[in-house]
Amino acid sequence: MLWFVKKMNAAARNPQIVLLFFLFYGIMAAMKVIVERSKRRTLSLTVSAGGDVVVRAPLSSSDETIRSFVARHKRWIENRLARQKAFSLADGAEIGLFGKTFVIAEGRARISGDTLFLPAEGREGALASLLKRLSAREMKQLTAELSSRFGFTYSSVRISSARTRWGSCNAKGSISYSFRIAFLPYDLAYYVAVHELCHTRVLNHSVAFWKEVAACLPDYAARRKRLRGYEWCMQAL
Ligand SMILES: [Zn+2]
Repeated sequence: MLWFVKKMNAAARNPQIVLLFFLFYGIMAAMKVIVERSKRRTLSLTVSAGGDVVVRAPLSSSDETIRSFVARHKRWIENRLARQKAFSLADGAEIGLFGKTFVIAEGRARISGDTLFLPAEGREGALASLLKRLSAREMKQLTAELSSRFGFTYSSVRISSARTRWGSCNAKGSISYSFRIAFLPYDLAYYVAVHELCHTRVLNHSVAFWKEVAACLPDYAARRKRLRGYEWCMQAL
């Protein structure tokens, strides 16, 4: 991670605005951090509804202390900002599902053409139920296709609400996918399906396992790397 700090105001006043440059979803970006020093003993970090990252710090805290404090909480900040940015469920907002973009409009929860209809009230819950159905349909089909293409045997596919992993596979060959897999581009959902199917042959993540994955998907490493950029989706809904 690369860090540069630029003070916006030469004389450190209160509050001080600091620009932190760092890799954000793989892109070099600036993050504005508002630092408020006061007679307090500990550092605190908040993300306001407007997307401002605010650090409250003791008067004696150095810029370096604050910078490393923010760095340690980078993932948490990313998740918070992503949740605010990427998941506006307002009419007219756009949302990507399995790599297709849909525009949100009010109506009974459903997908029709390029429109994702959500009811006026309880949009998050309605979207979660809709994604459970959508993911079940897409992932059952994809898993079946891949298993016949590569000769895997599995017992079932089900959809979970897991936030810690995109998919899992147990010793009985039962595969689960988080419904949040719908937030991934199709080629990454494809990688997850291949990954779980390979667990029907090798349950752990040994060298033998990755050989199986590579045999089906020679570019799996690049997809796996890109997948990390979507971890915030797990917290988004
Ligand atoms: Zn695995």
